Order: sequence, then structure tokens, then C-alpha cells
Amino acid sequence: CTKGRIAVVTGGNKGIGYCIVKTLCQKLKDEQGLVYLTARKEERGKTAINQLNQEGVHPAFHQLDIESKDSVKRFAQFLKTTHGGLDILVNNAGIAYFTSPHTPLALQARNTLDVNYFGTLNVCDELLPLLRGKARVVNVSSGLGHLSKINGLEPAASQLRDKLSSDNLNVEDLNRLVNDYIKFASEGTHKENGWPNSAYAVSKVAITALTRIQQRGFDLRRPHDNIAVNAVHPGWVQSDMTGGKGIYNTEEGSEAPVYAALLPDSADVPKGQYIWRDKSVTDW
Ligand code: NDP
Repeated sequence: CTKGRIAVVTGGNKGIGYCIVKTLCQKLKDEQGLVYLTARKEERGKTAINQLNQEGVHPAFHQLDIESKDSVKRFAQFLKTTHGGLDILVNNAGIAYFTSPHTPLALQARNTLDVNYFGTLNVCDELLPLLRGKARVVNVSSGLGHLSKINGLEPAASQLRDKLSSDNLNVEDLNRLVNDYIKFASEGTHKENGWPNSAYAVSKVAITALTRIQQRGFDLRRPHDNIAVNAVHPGWVQSDMTGGKGIYNTEEGSEAPVYAALLPDSADVPKGQYIWRDKSVTDW
């Protein structure tokens, strides 16, 4: 029986996610919490669990492909029946084309937004309703998730930035904008419509915008529950995503996400913010 908090990390089988799982296991040990390492491929997940066991930590495993609504629904149902709720959600899973930059933009845009944005949204649709009071949600964004990365041609780019940062933006609006980008990118008209060349940047700007929407939702619907949702830039990290390039190792890359996942039970913690690798709240 689990007494402490229940945490979930997506894309936990390698890279930054693996280190987030490891540190969360260590930090939740005293309260007898439980961390779910989830992975889209069961075999990769189980290999990671074995490695972590050898490192002295003991997460649980569950399959979770964030692109698959069925997989996400199965996991949500499992959490509900097994634990009745959830306390920490780290949306870490993501893809990029840094090591294959010549992939046609139409394809990069479709696939990157499907995983990084719509996949994360799938998870949130099913798991946010399970969050208990004082829950913490970490949406792993990026330095490329800064609003200034929406830097196509003017005046369209400024208009887009205004829409994305509006306090009235809702998920339907954001979905529409993201789908616009996918369409413009496939036609090659994204620049004149204000969008950048980097589909990855668009996906992470969208994740940061989503974070702000989600926090506003909790503030409105559950004002006394002290739930905090934040977007986090982990730093430029040596992982498979970056082809091993980067400044920080994966352990260092996990520091800011773990910090945001374990924000103390206090009313004045960052909420709906864009948190940089050094844990500072950054103006978006
Ligand atoms: P990795 O490529 O090492 O790890 C990505 C993880 O996401 C893997 O576990 C991968 O699983 C998983 N994943 C991909 N698609 C899915 C899916 N559909 N369902 C479930 N899991 C999936 O990357 P990093 O550790 O570097 O990246 C982790 C996060 O940090 C990402 O969101 C990334 O955008 C972000 N980030 C990384 C930076 C860096 O410099 N590395 C900088 C800024 C942000 P599988 O092994 O099966 O492919």
C-alpha cells in the first residue's frame, strides 16, 4: 500500500526523463511515495527499471504512448482504480529532428506537434482530472519554447505572439493555431503567416501557452486546491535528442523539472510560469 505521493513521468526510459524518475524515487522514499516510469515501448521501460533497480531505486512501470489515446486511457483507468488519484505529473516525453534536420518541414511539423503538443494534451485530458489537491504538473518545455521564437514575418508574427500570450486563450484556440502551423508548414507559407521554421520551437511555445491555460483553469475551478502547473526549460542537455551535444548531462537536466515537481506546499509557489534551468521564473 502506498502512503506517499504518486508521481508519473512520461518518456522515462532514457535521457532527462530517466533521471527525473531516479531523483523523484529518492526524494519520495521517506514518505513512501511511488513513481511510475512510463514508456511507449514496454521492453525499453523494463530495461530502464532494471537499470534503476541496480542504482538502488524502485519505480513502478506502466506502458504509455502519449500519441495513443487508448494507451493514455488505459493508464488513467489503471491509476484511478489502483491509487484513486495522482499527485505529480511530469510531461517529459518528446521528439525533435535535431539529428535529422533535412527531414521535410511538412513531416517535421506533423510529427513534432503530434507528439510534443497533441500527445501531451492527450495525457493531460485524462490525467489532470485525477489530480489531487496540492498536485504539481511539470510540462517540459525548452528554451525554444520562449514566445520570442515565434519570429516569422511581421506583422503576422506579432499578432501571433499576442494571441498566444493572451489571457483569454483557451485550448480550442491553441489547437486551431497549432493546426494552422501544420497546414502552413506543409504549404511553405508559415513564414509569411508569422511562424518560424522550427516545428520544435512551435511545439514548445504551444506547451508553454498550454501551461498558462491549464493553470488558469485550476485557479478558476479548484481555487482552494493549490495546484501548480509550470513549464520548465531543462537546459541544453546531452541526450539522444541532441545527438549527445549540449552543456549539461541528463542528471543536471533533470534538476529544474524535479524542482518544479516538488514545489513545497505553500500558496506562493510559481504557478503557470516558465521556469528556466537555474530555477528562476523567466518572463515569457
Ligand atoms: P530523449 O530523446 O533522450 O528522450 C525522449 C523520451 O521521450 C524517450 O523516452 C522517448 O521514448 C520518449 N517519447 C518520444 N515519443 C513518445 C511517445 N509518443 N510516447 C511516450 N514517450 C515518447 O530526449 P531528452 O531526454 O533530451 O528530452 C526530454 C524532454 O526534454 C523532451 O520533452 C525535450 O523536448 C525536452 N528538452 C530537451 C532538451 C535537450 O537539450 N536535450 C532541451 C530542452 C528541452 P523512446 O525511447 O521510445 O523513443
